[in-house]
Amino acid sequence: MTHAAVVALAIGTLLVGLVAGILVGRRAAKPVTPPRPSGATIADLVQRAVLSSHNGVVLLDRMGDVLLANPPAVELGLVQGSRVDERAGKVAEQVRASGEVMLVDLSPLDRGARSGRGPTAVLGEVRPLGDEFTVVEASDESDAVRLEATRRDFVANVSHELKTPVGAMALLAEAVLDAADDPHEVRRFGTKILNEANRLGTLVTELIALSRLQGAERLPELATVSVDKVITEALDRCRLAAESANIRITADPPSGLLLHGDATLLVTALSNLLDNAVSYSQPGSPVSISRRLEDGYVEIAVTDRGLGIDPEHQQRVFERFFRIDQARSRSTGGTGLGLAIVKHVAANHGGEVHLWSKPGTGSTFTLRIPAHPDSPQHQARTLPTPEYVGGST
Ligand code: ADP
Repeated sequence: MTHAAVVALAIGTLLVGLVAGILVGRRAAKPVTPPRPSGATIADLVQRAVLSSHNGVVLLDRMGDVLLANPPAVELGLVQGSRVDERAGKVAEQVRASGEVMLVDLSPLDRGARSGRGPTAVLGEVRPLGDEFTVVEASDESDAVRLEATRRDFVANVSHELKTPVGAMALLAEAVLDAADDPHEVRRFGTKILNEANRLGTLVTELIALSRLQGAERLPELATVSVDKVITEALDRCRLAAESANIRITADPPSGLLLHGDATLLVTALSNLLDNAVSYSQPGSPVSISRRLEDGYVEIAVTDRGLGIDPEHQQRVFERFFRIDQARSRSTGGTGLGLAIVKHVAANHGGEVHLWSKPGTGSTFTLRIPAHPDSPQHQARTLPTPEYVGGST
């Protein structure tokens, strides 16, 4: 008997089980019977259903030989050549004997060799089809596993970040008690407690902002926002930090550009970029901010001539709690959440944030947000005219 005949025979006998088990699967409560195209047999339709499934599906006979496999089964590594994955084959034997549905981990064993391509986690479900046949259905769980790992990392990071200032405050409070008779020391430790409390406050505020941004499917209150006002407010917010670092921030002239967005979030994002430009520059070096309309997007660029960021870190700086230099970030009161917030604010506005940077030369972070349709046409300016020194446009 030819392979095709075996397939047809097997499919014919397993009709009901396959339709219920593969086509409809565990997701639908009731089997759905679509109208049958004229001329097609049910075996044809079942075969098409298997072949068109997004999950990997393999039909095995009682010897564990592959009767039918769809392309995702090959992509997920469930079938190699004409053989089913050994782990799936073993479980299929048990399923045939017990008649019970079983799950099996089919994640690739050569994960390192895959160089980041292809699935990293694959879950298989093996179901009996009568006494002799089994079907293995495999799904790519890489995203779910990655998400869970990120969530676990995040919880661990938050716990650590919260514990650090709390621990410091406890130690400093003890030091205050020990030095109760020395007003100078009390003042010194008191100032440190205040710093740690402020740090804790910022961290909690930023965590709440981030969780709101990540949870929000749509931004709550969208309004027409003046880009110039957002820039002025962000500049006002970092005026003190810039002054104390003796850093001059220049801005190009007001543009009249408009956005459809949330002004508070945009001010937060821009202040984070300006704060970083100040924090990661040498005292006295220049920082500039410019705005323009480019391909229907408002682009606001913050440029510094500071430390710059190594190419290997340029993607990672947008991750939560990633810092290139822990000590420096800590000494400037950084939480490691600033750029993650910027990234989410941009995304929630349908935009993005770009980074150009060169170690030793400096960095430019550009926030790109779709312009409001009523935004005046604004010629792109390549050279911002320095017009502002200090805190307002
Ligand atoms: P932080 O609170 O530590 O500043 P961010 O999320 O704002 O956290 O930034 C993450 C890291 O990216 C910083 O710790 C710093 O190492 C790096 N970074 C951010 N902005 C700049 C910049 N303008 N120049 C150099 N490095 C920067």
